[in-house]
Amino acid sequence: MTQPTPIRRAPGHKPRLLDTAISLAANGIPPLPLRAGKLPFGNCPDCTGNACGGRPNMKSAGPCRCPGVCHAWAAATTDPHTLASTPWVAAWRQAAAIAYHPGGAGLTVLDLDNTAAVQWARATLPATRTVPTTRGEHWIYQGAMRSANAVRPGVDVKSHMAYARWLGHGTGRMTALPQAVRALAMREDTTPARAGVVSSSPAPWDRSVATGCRHTERFVRTGLERGLTLVRARTESGAGSQAFGTARFLAIQHTACPGPCALEALGEEIVAAAVSVGVPEPYARRAVANGLQAPSGRVA
Ligand SMILES: [Zn+2]
Ligand SMILES: [Zn+2]
Ligand SMILES: [Zn+2]
Repeated sequence: MTQPTPIRRAPGHKPRLLDTAISLAANGIPPLPLRAGKLPFGNCPDCTGNACGGRPNMKSAGPCRCPGVCHAWAAATTDPHTLASTPWVAAWRQAAAIAYHPGGAGLTVLDLDNTAAVQWARATLPATRTVPTTRGEHWIYQGAMRSANAVRPGVDVKSHMAYARWLGHGTGRMTALPQAVRALAMREDTTPARAGVVSSSPAPWDRSVATGCRHTERFVRTGLERGLTLVRARTESGAGSQAFGTARFLAIQHTACPGPCALEALGEEIVAAAVSVGVPEPYARRAVANGLQAPSGRVA
């Protein structure tokens, strides 16, 4: 891809964000303007508080056809007429930056916010196209998934229903979204929208599935999070055996429960953590299944 020659402008002259937006749209990437502070523009009075019901592409699909840039990522579009329409041009004039909706382009952006996060990605994930950011890098993969924030320290996954800043084309060949990145989002599973991301994964652990567990949810989740942290820290080696150890530790906590304790739901999160640091999924599953069975032979 040829880089356009930088155009010298008088100090204070804003780059033509609309031109960039039109060219992104022509390549199937839906852009949107960001205001000062690098945030989306606020909603218009009709759309404030989602009074309009939201746009059709939002999680709870609404009828909003607002011509403005309302609803953040949901406004991003590849339609050049919308991008150059009167309300959008007014926004481009005030805009401080440009963003895009990665999911709408069939992409996933791994937003690595600092040097440590970048080093983790380099050691763990398949190489792909990268774009330098203020303190870190965007790694852009071909393929869309559910977005999730803070999947690791300094790491956000931006794809469906999210926006990422457009900071240029970057360098390197884009590669297919790996399972290790999909697995990162499995632990942040508070909504039923995850179906279709990882079809084999059961519902997250909560009291309603663990009807025979005598522990509080807080107790169970604290133990789980400690274990996941240990697994994710094994970025070099040993994550598989740490996954076994974590599963075993959790299972021991429940040997006195009448059951069921839905430990398999906890196990899925351990598998995801192990896969996220490079353990092959079949191996991670075996290690976790063995760990859950170890104390008493009972998988509750
Ligand atoms: Zn609106
Ligand atoms: Zn609206
Ligand atoms: Zn229990």
